[in-house]
Amino acid sequence: MSVTVQMRQVVKHYKRGAERVEVLHQLDLDVPAGEFLALMGPSGSGKTTLLNLMGGLDRPDSGQITIAGERVDAMTDRQLTRWRARHVGFVFQLYNLMPKMSAAANVELPLMLTSLSRAQRKAHVENALNIVGLGDRARHRPLELSGGQQQRVAIARALVADPSILVCDEPTGDLDRQTAFDILGLLKLLNRDLGKTIVMVTHDPLAAGFAGRRLHVDKGLLVTGAEASLQ
Ligand code: ADP
Ligand code: MG
Repeated sequence: MSVTVQMRQVVKHYKRGAERVEVLHQLDLDVPAGEFLALMGPSGSGKTTLLNLMGGLDRPDSGQITIAGERVDAMTDRQLTRWRARHVGFVFQLYNLMPKMSAAANVELPLMLTSLSRAQRKAHVENALNIVGLGDRARHRPLELSGGQQQRVAIARALVADPSILVCDEPTGDLDRQTAFDILGLLKLLNRDLGKTIVMVTHDPLAAGFAGRRLHVDKGLLVTGAEASLQ
């Protein structure tokens, strides 16, 4: 089976004053292509740290991270930026849209780093907005859209460059339950019908239920649900 994400012996620490706080301890993770994986765990357990490493937003102190066949941990900042634009789509809890730009312009942003023509970019943007059900909202600005619609725009932006992996950090954390379920249903559809590989961080067991597999971040290591210490 082809593997999209392979993390080996990954160590990450932060400095808090003079103190060295190790967040991930020699962590191993494989995500097969086409999987929808939920990462759970209490606040502060290192979920965002792990996701940022997986998406090439940050680098480990040691260990290897291979995504879609490329060693991400060995790249320079410049290489990493270009690599991210092609291979990773990010979805954040607070959408992170540009407020002054239309939905379409927000979705187009990742394509500005590619060699696509203006007409090709327009076609990709239309397609991505249609996939998330917002084909008729292309000219709206973020504040003219509901929270759920803004998150759909963010998902379209994450999809538009056809990345190897979608990483979603608490994508429904700021939404009411029904809207959250709609967004989770969309992610599930992207996984099932379009074969997108998705890694989603959530502390909500109901949200995690939409994924195909669940792992818990527990004391800087990954364990299955049954092994997670009681919180
Ligand atoms: P989670 O997403 O599971 O809530 P994080 O990965 O954000 O956890 O954080 C894990 C731990 O690392 C926490 O103790 C947090 O305070 C610490 N941490 C995260 N980012 C930084 C940073 N940039 N500098 C120092 N400490 C950090
Ligand atoms: Mg977090």
